[in-house]
Amino acid sequence: MTESESVALPFGDSPLSCVVPHNKMYYIRFFFKMQAFFLIFLIFSNYRHSFAFLLFLLSSIFLFSCIKYSHYERQVFRMSYALLVNKSHTLSSSYVPPYLTEARIPFHAPAHHEKTLMEKAAAKSAAKLFHRAAAENITLMGVSGYRSYRRQEILYRNALQRGSTAVAPPGTSEHQTGLALDISCASLNFELEEAFASTKEGKWLKANAPLYGFILRYPRRKEHITGYPWEPWHIRFVGKTLSLYLSLTGLTLEEYHDMLPDSSQIR
Ligand SMILES: [Zn+2]
Repeated sequence: MTESESVALPFGDSPLSCVVPHNKMYYIRFFFKMQAFFLIFLIFSNYRHSFAFLLFLLSSIFLFSCIKYSHYERQVFRMSYALLVNKSHTLSSSYVPPYLTEARIPFHAPAHHEKTLMEKAAAKSAAKLFHRAAAENITLMGVSGYRSYRRQEILYRNALQRGSTAVAPPGTSEHQTGLALDISCASLNFELEEAFASTKEGKWLKANAPLYGFILRYPRRKEHITGYPWEPWHIRFVGKTLSLYLSLTGLTLEEYHDMLPDSSQIR
């Protein structure tokens, strides 16, 4: 999965740029021009030049594969990485992300546990984020990645029995998408606490997560919008374009979705 590099709203407003990321437009325009040239040449030469015909054919194949690839890329981006999951946008009990893989990061969890799984692109970006942190002497620790509907249901029920409402009801947690990751550090004994925000690891994470496609999903003072309390330990993969856009504008994923025209709603 590659993303458009431009820091702008991921979806343009013209019909073609809506389908094709901006950095691919140059190539597509170029091949359109090439095709027009070969077609004119073929017509004037009365279709006798087999070499020109071959080039026309090759450029057609390349053009259509470009558009198809971009369309596929957009589908992946729209369907997964900007997906909104909260208490009013829920996931079904059967939803499982298409590509789950073990994230290659240290986890404060038993090896091969469900918690160590993440969506493929999110796992890859998390590994890069942790690698960068380690290079700067910051030791981050993964606590929880993917969480199935079934496990969320059990955790929710157990929490209710304890009289706690801190656990999200099943279907409302974005951990079910495989795109979310809870992170802690040794000084907090790997607990998920608000104090993480004032640790050097928490500060580093806040500053650097957007560079790797992650946002801090539940910021302070946005609780009324996200429906979740402040969670400085919870990062969510949205892709690099959107993570930079959201971190620069200070918008939450809910506010971003509200800005999209109805036809662009990402489900
Ligand atoms: Zn979380």
